[in-house]
Amino acid sequence: MRVLVVEDELKLASLLQHGLEDEGFGVDVAVSGEQAVAGAVATEYDAIVLDIVLPGIDGFEACRRLRAEQVWSPTLMLTARDDVESRVRGLDCGADDYLLKPFSFDELLARLRALVRRGAAPRPTVLEVDDLRLDPATHRAWRGPIEIELTAREFALLETLMRRAGRVLSRFELLEHIWSESYEHRSNVVDVYIGYLRDKIDRPFGRQSLETVRGVGYRLRGTEP
Ligand code: CA
Repeated sequence: MRVLVVEDELKLASLLQHGLEDEGFGVDVAVSGEQAVAGAVATEYDAIVLDIVLPGIDGFEACRRLRAEQVWSPTLMLTARDDVESRVRGLDCGADDYLLKPFSFDELLARLRALVRRGAAPRPTVLEVDDLRLDPATHRAWRGPIEIELTAREFALLETLMRRAGRVLSRFELLEHIWSESYEHRSNVVDVYIGYLRDKIDRPFGRQSLETVRGVGYRLRGTEP
């Protein structure tokens, strides 16, 4: 298991390095965001410990750039106590977990082990299917360069379809994902919302990406890259 520790406070960096080496990890240290990005693109790390406050680009930007480069190494962000905004921002930038400073080394180890178990499968923060893009964190969606205004339900429906692009989803599956259990299952609410969505993501662009599969349900054409 090889870990990249990104921390510019040398004392903490060396403490982490030696502690992790004692546990059998191979450890590299980066002291800036730029160095972290270059290192993690070049070497496939099993996990990254990433501090937020760094010289040059910060931990958020480093994490964003890594995910943009398709580097999916599980990432644990170190954040200051009582800073909810940083924790939220870190996760939205593509981090997988966070640890509040100061932390116990045992907890860091346990979190790292849990992250390594989950592996480095692609988990983009922004969904893309052909030229449709959707950002769940900011609730924004685009067709090519054009931003599309969606209601909360339309957004949820599009997100569900994009996460399963190319697959046929039944009305029931869509109902289950987007509407509460109490919703009247016989209603045509799904068909109505598919219509709303087509008016926003397809018709203005001369597209037919949202297909009706007769007798089964709906499918968003295309695959995630
Ligand atoms: Ca730091």
